[in-house]
Amino acid sequence: MQNSHLTKKLTINIFPFAKLEQPKQSYVFCVDGRKGPIKSHEGKNIKGAYPQMLGGSLNSVVVYYVLGEENSAPVYKEKGFIDTGVQVFNVLREKGFGLGLHGDNHAKEGKSSGCGFGDNLRKVIEHLRQNHTDEIWGVLESSGLVTEDDKTKWDKIIGRLNEIDVSNNIPEGHEIIGRLKKEKDVAYQVLQGGHGEKAAVVNYVDGTTLDTDKAQELPAFNLDMWRVQAEAEALGIDVRETELLVLGLYVATEIALVENKGKARLPILIKK
Ligand SMILES: [Zn+2]
Repeated sequence: MQNSHLTKKLTINIFPFAKLEQPKQSYVFCVDGRKGPIKSHEGKNIKGAYPQMLGGSLNSVVVYYVLGEENSAPVYKEKGFIDTGVQVFNVLREKGFGLGLHGDNHAKEGKSSGCGFGDNLRKVIEHLRQNHTDEIWGVLESSGLVTEDDKTKWDKIIGRLNEIDVSNNIPEGHEIIGRLKKEKDVAYQVLQGGHGEKAAVVNYVDGTTLDTDKAQELPAFNLDMWRVQAEAEALGIDVRETELLVLGLYVATEIALVENKGKARLPILIKK
């Protein structure tokens, strides 16, 4: 018996990509492969494809928190994660970047946000810095996303992650997203249903994104690296360090959301 749709080879070319008219101003949402309605801060409906990063704008908050300032560990304690987020949102808004966060239609008020990256952030950090560090490096290296030359920066990143007192410094996902979505100009998406992603895409093509609505028959996680890079630059953070951290967090998130739930590891597909 042959099921052509099951045996069809999973390559990057079978996924629908869209070109964004305003790559920088577009509200950014999560790598999550589900779809759902989006509203602007003023309650206006927003349609069309959107750039994607880990947890949407939460991506740059985590990056800034880990890599933002030399010797920033004391800043964590004084300012805290959420205040860092507010500060990051202010800088990005001033520089013209659209801000976005999401929940889903079965999140539990006061318990979960519905964003797998946000809700598992503590676990994701633990996976990357401790439980799966070498395994994640191996996955990235065999995908061609990192080389031996990146090892010094990688070690610095793992060192930075080790400075974080996860249980005291990283709030729960619903606390982070519940608070940051109240900030000015933040758009909010409510994703629907369950996860069925078949691949983890990393997209380097400037100003394009996976069209999540059109990809519902074959959903995938999608990380738009060009947008990750642009926000890192706007925040004054080393762009390659940012890429390495975000790639590590992406695989760690996949481990938490897919492999830890008993499903097979997703293939990483790269769009260049
Ligand atoms: Zn999410």
